[in-house]
Amino acid sequence: MPTPATLLTVHLAALVNNWRFLAAQAAHGRCAAVVKADGYGLGAVEVAAALLAAGCTEFFVAHLAEAITLRVGLTARFPDQRPFIGVLNGLLPGEQPEFAEHALVPVLNSPAQLEDWPADVPAILQIDTGMSRLGLEAAEFEALLPALRRRPFRLLMSHFACADAPDHPLNRQQIDRFVAALRQLPGVPGSLAASSGIFLGADAHFDLLRPGYALYGGNPTPGQPNPMEAVVTLTTPILQVRDIPAGRPVGYGARWVSATPSRIATVAYGYADGVPRVTEGAIFHLGGQPVPVVGRVSMDLMTLDVTGISGVLSGADVEILGAKRDIDQAGTDGGTLGYEILTSIGRRSVRRYGP
Ligand SMILES: *Cc1c(COP(=O)(O)O)cnc(C)c1O
Repeated sequence: MPTPATLLTVHLAALVNNWRFLAAQAAHGRCAAVVKADGYGLGAVEVAAALLAAGCTEFFVAHLAEAITLRVGLTARFPDQRPFIGVLNGLLPGEQPEFAEHALVPVLNSPAQLEDWPADVPAILQIDTGMSRLGLEAAEFEALLPALRRRPFRLLMSHFACADAPDHPLNRQQIDRFVAALRQLPGVPGSLAASSGIFLGADAHFDLLRPGYALYGGNPTPGQPNPMEAVVTLTTPILQVRDIPAGRPVGYGARWVSATPSRIATVAYGYADGVPRVTEGAIFHLGGQPVPVVGRVSMDLMTLDVTGISGVLSGADVEILGAKRDIDQAGTDGGTLGYEILTSIGRRSVRRYGP
């Protein structure tokens, strides 16, 4: 019998509910889905196929290669549909034929990218409104405006730097700059809001919402209750259980020492599977009961304190992510964000798709 695996279950019904909920927030306009980084680690083709079946027809990835994989995967499942696929990072020199072959649309982020793309073929134009990451600078936009007006842009977009902090003054400035730029390109629709931007209010919505994280169950309103449904459950089997006396060290560096006689369960999950090494002290769950991570996180193993939990057997499944520990909590425990927890889940975890 093969070793029982770490199981990542992606709840596609919850994902679809999340997309519908976000789309329903739109003051006007539509809701796309960002499926970059292999659908935030959950499988871009599976995620996009579920959303396409639910009526989402616009997708964004970061790289051309991701876009091609998505196009091929979706076409195999939905031969009659050709949903929009935008490539956020734009195009690199020489990539244009592949964009054309697969009907992909680049986000043009710089004068160089504008030059590399045929002026009569639709694309997306990105302007920088305050993040200094991708997009035309205000001065570049002004200088290029006459030429830009002659191009068939299907969208003008920009990206918020601080949408997760609703009171940050940069949000208002970015909206105002974006509105001013949109006025210069009459008839071009706009897109500014990602997950958290959607909750800044109707002013931030424009014509197309671009959520990623919230689709996957992440909280787009940090510090407030999470309006999204949980999309992932991650469980891993216990490999071995042992009873230890008081005063016994556990794990590398002997950093944790039992204060009382304890029962320790070892699970087949470690930092190579995506759990940050600083997750020591986090609370996982076994049969609904809390079990703290004790001792250092190893590459392939972790040790949990299961003292007092009756009937702990090797092979029992520990819940690492799920109803009792969401991705935002995992981010906090790991000194990072739920975003990084999702995209770090290792390829050794077996992905299952369910409702
Ligand atoms: C990643 C990304 C998104 C989605 O952001 P979330 O915070 O995950 O919703 C939208 N737009 C751009 C440009 C992005 O890079």
